[in-house]
Amino acid sequence: MEYRILKKISEETISKKVEEIAQNISSDYKDKEPVLIGILNGCFIFMADLIRKISIPLELDFVRLASYGSNSASSGRIRLTKDVELLIRGKPVIIVEDIVDTGLTLSYLIKHIEKKAPESIKVCTLINKVERRYKEVVIDYQGFDLKEGFLVGYGLDYGENYRYLPYILSLKIED
Ligand code: 5GP
Repeated sequence: MEYRILKKISEETISKKVEEIAQNISSDYKDKEPVLIGILNGCFIFMADLIRKISIPLELDFVRLASYGSNSASSGRIRLTKDVELLIRGKPVIIVEDIVDTGLTLSYLIKHIEKKAPESIKVCTLINKVERRYKEVVIDYQGFDLKEGFLVGYGLDYGENYRYLPYILSLKIED
Protein backbone atom coordinates (compact mmCIF):
# COMPACT_ATOMS: atom_id res chain seq x y z
CA MET A 1 0.00 0.00 0.00
CA GLU A 2 1.24 3.46 -0.91
CA TYR A 3 0.32 6.25 1.45
CA ARG A 4 1.35 9.64 2.68
CA ILE A 5 0.96 10.72 6.30
CA LEU A 6 -1.04 13.94 6.40
CA LYS A 7 -1.26 14.33 10.14
CA LYS A 8 -0.47 12.61 13.44
CA ILE A 9 -2.51 12.96 16.61
CA SER A 10 -0.22 12.03 19.50
CA GLU A 11 -1.03 9.84 22.49
CA GLU A 12 -0.84 12.90 24.72
CA THR A 13 -3.26 14.94 22.61
CA ILE A 14 -5.72 12.02 22.48
CA SER A 15 -5.47 11.49 26.21
CA LYS A 16 -6.21 15.15 27.02
CA LYS A 17 -9.22 15.15 24.70
CA VAL A 18 -10.58 11.90 26.16
CA GLU A 19 -10.15 13.38 29.66
CA GLU A 20 -12.14 16.47 28.61
CA ILE A 21 -15.01 14.38 27.21
CA ALA A 22 -15.00 12.18 30.32
CA GLN A 23 -15.27 15.23 32.59
CA ASN A 24 -18.20 16.60 30.58
CA ILE A 25 -20.02 13.26 30.72
CA SER A 26 -19.29 12.92 34.46
CA SER A 27 -20.84 16.31 35.22
CA ASP A 28 -23.79 15.98 32.79
CA TYR A 29 -24.76 12.57 34.22
CA LYS A 30 -23.90 13.28 37.85
CA ASP A 31 -26.94 11.71 39.47
CA LYS A 32 -27.75 9.30 36.67
CA GLU A 33 -26.18 6.03 35.71
CA PRO A 34 -25.73 6.17 31.93
CA VAL A 35 -25.46 3.12 29.71
CA LEU A 36 -22.58 3.57 27.28
CA ILE A 37 -23.14 1.60 24.07
CA GLY A 38 -20.03 1.25 21.93
CA ILE A 39 -20.05 0.42 18.23
CA LEU A 40 -17.55 -2.38 17.56
CA ASN A 41 -14.80 -2.76 16.52
CA GLY A 42 -13.39 0.72 16.10
CA CYS A 43 -14.44 2.16 19.46
CA PHE A 44 -12.81 -0.41 21.74
CA ILE A 45 -9.69 1.54 22.73
CA PHE A 46 -11.50 4.86 22.96
CA MET A 47 -14.19 3.23 25.12
CA ALA A 48 -11.62 1.60 27.41
CA ASP A 49 -9.84 4.91 27.99
CA LEU A 50 -13.04 6.94 28.27
CA ILE A 51 -14.73 4.83 30.96
CA ARG A 52 -11.60 4.83 33.10
CA LYS A 53 -11.63 8.63 33.09
CA ILE A 54 -15.35 8.96 33.85
CA SER A 55 -15.87 9.46 37.58
CA ILE A 56 -19.51 8.32 37.95
CA PRO A 57 -21.07 4.84 37.91
CA LEU A 58 -22.12 3.60 34.49
CA GLU A 59 -23.12 0.48 32.59
CA LEU A 60 -21.49 -0.71 29.41
CA ASP A 61 -22.57 -2.66 26.34
CA PHE A 62 -21.58 -3.00 22.69
CA VAL A 63 -23.29 -3.40 19.35
CA ARG A 64 -21.84 -4.45 16.04
CA LEU A 65 -23.03 -3.35 12.63
CA ALA A 66 -22.14 -4.57 9.17
CA SER A 67 -22.73 -2.97 5.84
CA TYR A 68 -23.47 -5.23 2.92
CA GLY A 69 -23.43 -4.81 -0.83
CA SER A 70 -20.12 -3.03 -0.45
CA ASN A 71 -17.34 -3.00 2.12
CA SER A 72 -18.08 0.57 3.03
CA ALA A 73 -20.78 1.78 5.40
CA SER A 74 -21.44 4.52 2.86
CA SER A 75 -23.35 2.02 0.70
CA GLY A 76 -26.17 2.79 3.11
CA ARG A 77 -27.19 -0.84 3.55
CA ILE A 78 -26.54 -1.58 7.16
CA ARG A 79 -27.57 -4.44 9.40
CA LEU A 80 -27.05 -5.22 13.06
CA THR A 81 -24.93 -8.29 13.75
CA LYS A 82 -24.78 -7.89 17.55
CA ASP A 83 -27.53 -6.18 19.49
CA VAL A 84 -27.56 -4.47 22.89
CA GLU A 85 -27.90 -7.08 25.63
CA LEU A 86 -28.56 -4.88 28.66
CA LEU A 87 -32.07 -3.67 29.41
CA ILE A 88 -32.04 0.01 28.45
CA ARG A 89 -35.73 0.91 28.79
CA GLY A 90 -36.01 4.13 30.77
CA LYS A 91 -32.25 4.58 31.04
CA PRO A 92 -30.03 7.36 29.71
CA VAL A 93 -27.98 6.01 26.81
CA ILE A 94 -24.76 7.37 25.35
CA ILE A 95 -23.72 5.87 22.00
CA VAL A 96 -19.93 5.76 21.68
CA GLU A 97 -18.60 5.81 18.12
CA ASP A 98 -15.06 6.01 16.72
CA ILE A 99 -15.80 8.12 13.64
CA VAL A 100 -18.97 9.72 12.37
CA ASP A 101 -18.50 10.09 8.66
CA THR A 102 -21.61 10.06 6.42
CA GLY A 103 -23.79 9.58 9.53
CA LEU A 104 -25.55 6.55 8.03
CA THR A 105 -24.34 4.06 10.66
CA LEU A 106 -25.30 6.32 13.51
CA SER A 107 -28.73 7.27 12.22
CA TYR A 108 -29.50 3.57 11.66
CA LEU A 109 -28.42 2.74 15.22
CA ILE A 110 -30.29 5.65 16.81
CA LYS A 111 -33.53 4.47 15.17
CA HIS A 112 -32.88 0.94 16.42
CA ILE A 113 -32.14 2.06 19.98
CA GLU A 114 -35.14 4.42 20.09
CA LYS A 115 -37.39 1.36 19.73
CA LYS A 116 -36.06 0.10 23.08
CA ALA A 117 -37.48 3.24 24.78
CA PRO A 118 -34.47 4.55 26.68
CA GLU A 119 -34.91 7.74 28.73
CA SER A 120 -32.58 9.63 26.37
CA ILE A 121 -29.97 9.04 23.67
CA LYS A 122 -26.82 11.09 23.30
CA VAL A 123 -23.89 10.58 20.96
CA CYS A 124 -20.19 10.66 21.73
CA THR A 125 -17.62 10.30 18.96
CA LEU A 126 -13.86 10.48 19.00
CA ILE A 127 -13.73 11.88 15.46
CA ASN A 128 -16.28 13.91 13.59
CA LYS A 129 -15.86 14.13 9.81
CA VAL A 130 -18.52 16.76 9.56
CA GLU A 131 -17.81 17.72 5.96
CA ARG A 132 -18.72 14.27 4.66
CA ARG A 133 -22.10 14.19 6.41
CA TYR A 134 -24.95 12.77 4.35
CA LYS A 135 -27.45 12.04 7.15
CA GLU A 136 -27.85 14.75 9.75
CA VAL A 137 -27.06 13.52 13.27
CA VAL A 138 -26.61 15.47 16.49
CA ILE A 139 -23.25 14.92 18.14
CA ASP A 140 -23.23 15.71 21.86
CA TYR A 141 -19.60 14.95 22.69
CA GLN A 142 -16.77 14.96 20.19
CA GLY A 143 -13.02 14.68 20.26
CA PHE A 144 -11.56 15.85 16.97
CA ASP A 145 -13.06 17.48 13.95
CA LEU A 146 -11.13 16.24 10.90
CA LYS A 147 -11.58 17.01 7.25
CA GLU A 148 -9.23 14.98 5.14
CA GLY A 149 -7.51 11.63 5.09
CA PHE A 150 -8.23 8.08 6.14
CA LEU A 151 -7.64 7.59 9.85
CA VAL A 152 -5.85 4.63 11.40
CA GLY A 153 -4.52 3.74 14.85
CA TYR A 154 -6.00 3.93 18.36
CA GLY A 155 -8.46 1.16 17.43
CA LEU A 156 -9.05 2.32 13.85
CA ASP A 157 -8.02 -0.01 11.06
CA TYR A 158 -7.19 -0.13 7.41
CA GLY A 159 -7.97 -3.69 6.28
CA GLU A 160 -7.67 -4.83 9.94
CA ASN A 161 -4.15 -3.38 10.26
CA TYR A 162 -2.90 -0.54 12.45
CA ARG A 163 -5.48 -0.82 15.24
CA TYR A 164 -2.65 -1.31 17.75
CA LEU A 165 -0.97 2.06 17.15
CA PRO A 166 -1.26 4.21 20.32
CA TYR A 167 -1.65 7.36 18.19
CA ILE A 168 -3.84 8.30 15.20
CA LEU A 169 -2.50 8.82 11.69
CA SER A 170 -4.40 10.53 8.95
CA LEU A 171 -3.33 8.89 5.68
CA LYS A 172 -3.67 9.80 2.07
CA ILE A 173 -3.99 6.38 0.41
CA GLU A 174 -2.33 6.44 -3.00
CA ASP A 175 -2.76 2.94 -4.39
P1 5GP B 1 -20.65 6.39 8.46
O1 5GP B 1 -21.83 5.47 8.48
O2 5GP B 1 -20.78 7.57 9.41
O3 5GP B 1 -20.28 6.82 7.08
O4 5GP B 1 -19.44 5.49 8.84
C1 5GP B 1 -18.89 5.41 10.05
C2 5GP B 1 -17.93 4.24 10.11
O5 5GP B 1 -17.08 4.17 8.94
C3 5GP B 1 -17.00 4.45 11.26
O6 5GP B 1 -17.53 3.89 12.43
C4 5GP B 1 -15.75 3.74 10.79
O7 5GP B 1 -15.85 2.37 11.13
C5 5GP B 1 -15.76 3.87 9.29
N1 5GP B 1 -14.86 4.97 8.88
C6 5GP B 1 -15.22 6.17 8.36
N2 5GP B 1 -14.13 6.93 8.10
C7 5GP B 1 -13.06 6.18 8.50
C8 5GP B 1 -11.63 6.44 8.53
O8 5GP B 1 -11.12 7.49 8.17
N3 5GP B 1 -10.86 5.44 9.05
C9 5GP B 1 -11.38 4.24 9.48
N4 5GP B 1 -10.51 3.34 9.96
N5 5GP B 1 -12.70 3.99 9.45
C10 5GP B 1 -13.53 4.94 8.98
